[in-house]
Amino acid sequence: MTYLVTGGAGFIGSHLVEALLARGDSVIALDNLSTGSPANLSEAAKNAGFRFVHGSVLDDLMVDELMRQCDAVVHMAAAVGVRLVVDEPLKSLITNIRGSQIVIEAAHRYRRKVLMTSTSDIYGKNSAGPLRESADRILGPPSIVRWAYSTAKAVDEILANCYHRERDLATIVARLFNTVGPRQSPAYGMVVPRLVRQAVRGEPLTVYGDGRQTRCFTHVSDVVDALLRLLDEPAAIGQTYNVGSSREISIRELAETIIARTGSASGIQVIPYDQAYESGFEDMQRKVPDTTKLRVLTGWLPRRSLDDILSDAIAHARRERAGCPAPRAIPIRT
Ligand code: UDP
Repeated sequence: MTYLVTGGAGFIGSHLVEALLARGDSVIALDNLSTGSPANLSEAAKNAGFRFVHGSVLDDLMVDELMRQCDAVVHMAAAVGVRLVVDEPLKSLITNIRGSQIVIEAAHRYRRKVLMTSTSDIYGKNSAGPLRESADRILGPPSIVRWAYSTAKAVDEILANCYHRERDLATIVARLFNTVGPRQSPAYGMVVPRLVRQAVRGEPLTVYGDGRQTRCFTHVSDVVDALLRLLDEPAAIGQTYNVGSSREISIRELAETIIARTGSASGIQVIPYDQAYESGFEDMQRKVPDTTKLRVLTGWLPRRSLDDILSDAIAHARRERAGCPAPRAIPIRT
């Protein structure tokens, strides 16, 4: 198979690219390098089955041409991270809505299967606990950027679902919860690489809000494993799946654990949301996935614990601080 991976130079995209190549597929990675990096593809570039195309999903002629050349597409190109979405709301909306529309329309022209990655932000501030795919979306007003982002991603999902139901296009939606691992940049707000880097540098760890909000972190290798299983499973077509771990931890406890694990002399600096992001910012108190649907279909369970995740992130931050290159990515399926 030849896969087109949009956003293939990004954090999760580049790990998926490597996993597809490792199992013998060919890959075309399309990325505008706005948040992705060519360095993420240095291993992939050694594989004869790999091609990188520097371009945007907003370039419909380019997307059309690449779609013609592939057998299936994994659409991951999107505005990523709360920081970026808050700083560039209009650009984020256009990338997320128009970019997805262009990709899906092209996939439809050539009858290519589409796996689209969505987000746990779909559920908004539904803090009810393990959330099934059918759980309610609870959103504040669209004037708050975060809810606008959630809505844009929901439009993407609706597009994928409509193309499946009304045009018989093979589409799958994967809602990714907090994903962590090598190559994740701290630049766009993601908490684990940020706090780990702060600890390694002896800087205060920035905990936003009261730190009692919780998240469930999943290692990128487990997320990629889930995506491969969904791609390989015909019964996934037309369906939406949560992807994430169920181990819940508060951000304050996360910060304390990172300080203990790194032996850092850093303290914790509590920062109100309106200083961390912008006035009126709203956070999710909990984001916990129920992944029964994915497990029943594919047998997927995350294999890496929070301990593994933090070990990996700490090692990565230490190497980065020492100016050493990252090692080869972890093999995905055993
Ligand atoms: N967060 C934090 N300090 C940081 C960055 C993030 O306390 O330096 C918090 C953030 O407010 C949120 C949680 O950590 O409650 C997870 O943030 P992230 O952006 O990683 O993911 P998301 O909010 O999209 O789940």
